[in-house]
Amino acid sequence: MKILFLDQSGKPGGAELCLLDIAKPYGQNALVGLFADGDFRKLLQENQIPVEVLATQAIKVSKQSGLFPALSSLGQITPLINQVVHRAKKYDLIYANTQKALVVGAIASFFARRPLVYHLHDILSQEHFSKTNLRVAINLINRCAALVIANSQASKTAFLQAGGKPDLVQVVYNGFAAKNYEVDELEVSNLKENLGLKDKFIVGHFSRLSPWKGQHILIDALSQCQKNVIAMLVGDALFGEYEYVKDLHQKVTALGLENRVKFLGFRADIPQLMAVCDLVAHTSTAPEPFGRVIVEAMLCGKPVVAAQAGGAMELVEDGVNGFLVTPGESQELAAVIHNCLQASTKIANIGNYARISASQRFDVHTINQQIQELLKLIILNK
Ligand code: UDP
Repeated sequence: MKILFLDQSGKPGGAELCLLDIAKPYGQNALVGLFADGDFRKLLQENQIPVEVLATQAIKVSKQSGLFPALSSLGQITPLINQVVHRAKKYDLIYANTQKALVVGAIASFFARRPLVYHLHDILSQEHFSKTNLRVAINLINRCAALVIANSQASKTAFLQAGGKPDLVQVVYNGFAAKNYEVDELEVSNLKENLGLKDKFIVGHFSRLSPWKGQHILIDALSQCQKNVIAMLVGDALFGEYEYVKDLHQKVTALGLENRVKFLGFRADIPQLMAVCDLVAHTSTAPEPFGRVIVEAMLCGKPVVAAQAGGAMELVEDGVNGFLVTPGESQELAAVIHNCLQASTKIANIGNYARISASQRFDVHTINQQIQELLKLIILNK
């Protein structure tokens, strides 16, 4: 089976890291076409996955764009569509991994006569997208896609509520290789020492810096916790949210937390950094479509406290493999941090159970097989 994957981003966000794991087993039978250059291209190359940057300039449409920018971008994407049509003829199907890839892939699938699969990594609601964007996405999917792979029940439900056809969609969770999250103890203690965090209770937050990812909620919670609790913020403003980064720094200063909040920027050593943490916090203020970092924390054997909405509710069972709190409620988060600080045996047991169950439930080989079976059916029925 030969697959042409399409992704609009040059940066390695959650959807891109998921695509990396899906494309890997196809080796030279895959080509990833990107609409922007960046570190994601390098990551694909490091993993021996064929990749080509197909666009020379960024497409100027955002999730919140209205009708006019969407229409005016059509001229811009025509050369891109031509490139995709040309390449798609050598592949059995087009696999669109992001929303702009869906638009380009849908038109190209018509001209190249190749089936289109759309991997839905978003909650298609007005909380995240403009009305125009939603309408365009749902119409294209309903008319052009042979299959929609939703990354959670929450994403599937939003898709159906927005008018998506029920017979198109299947839920497949992200897959992970558990062995990538096994970290050497010595490496962890060295890292902890290098970060100057020995003898601290470390609450980690792993996400791009963006208002809806809610890093400010963790900072508010920290101001209600005892002084040996430290917040470690891992991630950067991947999509230009620099105002928010400024706000976060101002908040830290205003609350006098300069010595208790560490901004580490974007990092590639996520398993090692998670292993350093005592607790991992997920604080999204809008429903998370899936929440890769939640599963990654579990695979590291760390207790995770997540905002009770969207995909996170499918991953975390409160008090069993982690904790759930009301989104946006810093007091509740502070209470969980306080309880974890008091009950080290209990949280060690929760982390351990989470590791074992997550490594079975999200095994990358099983999940890749599931996707392969779905794709085979599409090709057989084309
Ligand atoms: N991540 C990373 N480096 C960072 C911050 C995050 O590699 O500095 C990774 C993280 O480990 C996870 C992904 O980015 O695999 C984020 O995925 P998630 O589903 O949590 O959120 P998204 O970015 O898709 O909204």
